[in-house]
Amino acid sequence: MNMAEWLAASARLHPRAPALLTGVRVDADYATFARRAAAVGAHLAHRHGVKPGDRVALFATNSTQYLECLYGIWWIGAAAVPINAKLHGREAAWICEDSGAKVLFLSDGTADTWAEAGLPNGPATVSVDSDDYAAFRVEDGAPAPLARETDDLAWLFYTSGTTGRPKGVMLSHGNLMAMSLCYFADVDQVTPQDAVLYAAPISHGAGLYNFPHVRMAARHVVPDSGGFEAGEVLALGKQLRNVSMFAAPTMVRRLVDAARARGENGDGIRTIVYGGGPMYLADIRDAIATMGQRFVQIYGQGESPMTITALSRAWHAATDDPRYLERLASVGPAQSVIAVRIADTEGKPLPAGETGEVEAKGAAVMLGYWNNPEATAETLKDGWLRTGDVGRLDADGFLTLSDRSKDVIISGGTNIYPREVEEALLTHPDVAEVSVIGANDPDWGEVVVACVVLKDGGTADDKALDAHCLASIARFKRPKRYVFLPSLPKNNYGKVLKTALREMMAQG
Ligand code: AMP
Repeated sequence: MNMAEWLAASARLHPRAPALLTGVRVDADYATFARRAAAVGAHLAHRHGVKPGDRVALFATNSTQYLECLYGIWWIGAAAVPINAKLHGREAAWICEDSGAKVLFLSDGTADTWAEAGLPNGPATVSVDSDDYAAFRVEDGAPAPLARETDDLAWLFYTSGTTGRPKGVMLSHGNLMAMSLCYFADVDQVTPQDAVLYAAPISHGAGLYNFPHVRMAARHVVPDSGGFEAGEVLALGKQLRNVSMFAAPTMVRRLVDAARARGENGDGIRTIVYGGGPMYLADIRDAIATMGQRFVQIYGQGESPMTITALSRAWHAATDDPRYLERLASVGPAQSVIAVRIADTEGKPLPAGETGEVEAKGAAVMLGYWNNPEATAETLKDGWLRTGDVGRLDADGFLTLSDRSKDVIISGGTNIYPREVEEALLTHPDVAEVSVIGANDPDWGEVVVACVVLKDGGTADDKALDAHCLASIARFKRPKRYVFLPSLPKNNYGKVLKTALREMMAQG
């Protein structure tokens, strides 16, 4: 089934329901949203010769047109290639070439970056901010989306690629449907009164969550800033009500700080789904204390988008459970369509309680990597996705992640999981942020180094932090060195770049 069928259905059942908003201003109701999608599809097919199965890329900042274009692409059976708007023009050009995109949607915010890349024989470009776009999106298109099979390609999702070239994760209509149904079963319920706020790039997780909200004819809101500004999010919550949003842990922290500074609690924001990177126990407890029970955690990766495990709102609130803190530090049990297991280095399943690589299998797991059978064979074994994440399952199926396998520190032959050290340091009142890495050492192979950002006015030094660690973790896990930094290097999605930190250490 074509995912665009959900838009067509909402347009029939709730034609006048507000669909697309910029800030608090309604740009389109569901009937208009679907009509525009059909028109964009017709334009791609007639003007640019886009056929079913062809790829159409989007290198654009967040806007309501972004959603019109996605659905326009699917309406005619083509596949979307959303590209992070903060990439370098040359990186975007590489993705266009690799995917063989026939057309590229740009916006005012990316047009110059794209022009600098100067790709000869690149795809035809269309700006969503142009008069041309405004003119063709009101023309007539096909009355219904083209039929698609479950395994037909819908979304080609280029991984952030911290090592080597990014790979194109092939997500089918079936994958996206499985992800969306899991949203209803494991993450949150949605009604037409709800609003989903795109405070993070639509090209990534936040954008993937459009589907459950299209299905239920909820409002899709792009903030005026186009991105994440904590004050704006808090204001929109109060104005729009019933707001839900996806946020990376760094965004949650900034939102909590802003709410606290204003004496607010996030009124009007119903659900904050967080994930995409580690959420430390100290941070989520702080978030709940300031903003109340509005949180759901998901663990996923591009290869099984947003859908491996989830820690529901109920588990965040189960303070009477004797294992509450252990649960809160976990990423929850497997989502409905996914089986999770832990495997050793040879890929053999391990029993509950043992630490190894997390593997996932089920309807949300990608078809494979675009034009890359070697990488596909390495990552998918008998349908099991090797996530590259390290963790353990408890007897009830709760998964606790330690780290990415490449971030595990081996010191004197012993594995040290940075996450555990980070969790310990973050409970110190002076510590705002921390990232723990391994640095080469002639005696130990690697030693533990903590990169620490202190809170404003924080004065803790090596000695104080060492004493703090001694009180909560084994001696051998304590950092041998502390490096105090004004901030941590992060990528466009707010993930801490441990590779950059390791390079900084290597250069002294
Ligand atoms: P990406 O494919 O760019 O979305 O990155 C996925 C990776 O982010 C996963 O493989 C994990 O390493 C990390 N990640 C995602 N969700 C979580 C979470 N809830 N807690 C810790 N790490 C996470």
